[in-house]
Amino acid sequence: MALELASFTFNPFQENTYILHDKSKECVIIDPGCFGPEEEKELRDFIEGKGLKPTKLILTHAHIDHVMGCRFVKNTWDLPIYMHEAEKPVLESTNRVGQMYGIPVATPPPADFFLAEGDTFTVGEHELKVLFTPGHSPGSISFYYEAQLLLIAGDVLFNGSIGRTDLPGGNFATLENSIRTQLYTLPNDVKVYSGHGPHTTIGKEKRGNPFVRE
Ligand SMILES: [Zn+2]
Repeated sequence: MALELASFTFNPFQENTYILHDKSKECVIIDPGCFGPEEEKELRDFIEGKGLKPTKLILTHAHIDHVMGCRFVKNTWDLPIYMHEAEKPVLESTNRVGQMYGIPVATPPPADFFLAEGDTFTVGEHELKVLFTPGHSPGSISFYYEAQLLLIAGDVLFNGSIGRTDLPGGNFATLENSIRTQLYTLPNDVKVYSGHGPHTTIGKEKRGNPFVRE
């Protein structure tokens, strides 16, 4: 009974929202970036069409493009929000950051639970491990499912790129260290699902990533 991953690309920042689910019909929603009624409907139609039961809303980090749909998702399915504690000021700045971009977004509700390095969470019978991967944002976390060599990497590592480090709390040396010690130590065949763009693998990035190479 495999863990299945569905992806959506939402909002003006082209952010990837992921749903993890399995035959038990339980699902978790990661980084809900849906913005506006059409994208909210797309997410809701997928969940209802498959008869899924959302149980958690989990954030890799709290940048505006990853949290635009938090309020809708939390209210629609009455879900607890999970993230790293260091993302609190980032989440609280959502409305102010939206004003800077000229995009009206209400600040999402606060997190209900904090996740830290080594914590786990489950989707049906599948257990994912939390990796602490700061640098793009102070409390960036990634989610690893070893049994299927699957990694949700947020904006830490991209296909051919890495997360930007010029936003508040970002730091290149910290990001590079996260990638080298937490991600490049995973098996080469691990599939990496990032917060933007197409998926990649650890091996491909170790060999060819122009910013952080093995
Ligand atoms: Zn980000």
